[in-house]
Amino acid sequence: MNKIKRIKGTQDVLPGEVHNWQKLEAVIHSTMSIFNYREMRTPVFESTELFARGIGRLTDIVSKEMYSFEDRGKKQITLKPEMTAPIIRAYLEHNLKTQAPLQKVYYISSLFRQENPQAGRLRQFNQFGAEAIGADAAELDTELIQLALAVFAKLGIEGLKLEINTVGDTECREPYKIILKEYLRPVLDQYCEDCRKRFDGNPLRILDCKKENCRTLNRNAPKLSDHLCSGCDEHFTKLQDTLRAGGIAWSHNPYLVRGLDYYTRTVFEITSSDLGSQNAICGGGRYDLLAEQLGGPPTAAVGFAAGIERTLMVMGRQGLLSEQPGRLQVFVAPLGDAAAAVATEWVTKLRAMGYRTDRDYLGRSVKAQMREANRQRAQMVFLLGDEELKQKNFSVKEMDNGTQKSVSFSEIGPYLSDFFKHEK
Ligand SMILES: [Zn+2]
Ligand SMILES: [Zn+2]
Repeated sequence: MNKIKRIKGTQDVLPGEVHNWQKLEAVIHSTMSIFNYREMRTPVFESTELFARGIGRLTDIVSKEMYSFEDRGKKQITLKPEMTAPIIRAYLEHNLKTQAPLQKVYYISSLFRQENPQAGRLRQFNQFGAEAIGADAAELDTELIQLALAVFAKLGIEGLKLEINTVGDTECREPYKIILKEYLRPVLDQYCEDCRKRFDGNPLRILDCKKENCRTLNRNAPKLSDHLCSGCDEHFTKLQDTLRAGGIAWSHNPYLVRGLDYYTRTVFEITSSDLGSQNAICGGGRYDLLAEQLGGPPTAAVGFAAGIERTLMVMGRQGLLSEQPGRLQVFVAPLGDAAAAVATEWVTKLRAMGYRTDRDYLGRSVKAQMREANRQRAQMVFLLGDEELKQKNFSVKEMDNGTQKSVSFSEIGPYLSDFFKHEK
């Protein structure tokens, strides 16, 4: 029979590499906790309508990339392509506003988009992110940026760049769109096909086009930052003042608009030169209109999302991934049936004492068991043969210095706590 293989655009995280994922996740959990954000988990699938309304029907995600299907009950279902809409959906559904006027939440989640695997894009990928729901203060936008940067800093990642911009709100964005379209109309035929499609529904996205020719044309386009209403102008100034106060370096990129329709005012992107052309590792912004689009009351909110695979890729290029997981502390090597039974008792005891312990299950020779202990980088091996059983002791081999000694069963506890005293 043919071997069944994984679906293109999906990946397995194998035992030899998962420790780097766990390290990243541990840093995310601890940093979020320091910033007083609490984890939130939402279902893998939602009503398709949530994303159509939340992200916007005209975005690439909704129009081309969603994993949508009809279930057996004829409901339109979508595997979540991003986390912000589900979190706001849950926030509204559970009326979280009544628990706290400002909710600060974070997530680590798998997401799904039907992207082109030939281009190295994953169809199931992972993101972490945070959302602060219930305040429009620019200081909060700064906090989200600080939070994202703090996670990357704790991982040891260097050389990241922060770009910020404002995309205004309905008051100033609609008049600006008219000004922008007036500029674009006479030169539109020089833009790429995607841009020409964006002209009617979402002309702001033209500013975001990564194609060289479109970028050149955009250089003369009117900038939204020159057409802000006074509220948005103040907010953007305050954002920059508080970033300065927080000691954060940034640059203002007037062409940064981010892909999604729901952003208002602040947008930002953190990029790494270690990622090549698709160099964003994290993006975010304010989305004060999303809750209303989902049928809730006006609710100011700001958040970010960061790619976990991309973060790991940057860590890899900066030499921050470790080749091997933590070492095994004790390998118990029994010889013969009687010893094997006693080994079971000792493995149980050692694990209860908190030592990372394993043993042989394959009835291997001493030599093969020592090879296995080496492969697992065990710090010590407890040899247990007939002689040791009689004497009620182990022949202990300390693997790093090669010394071998007898330690009686009754002395094992004190011996181990002395040996590992620097690790605990
Ligand atoms: Zn273009
Ligand atoms: Zn405005």
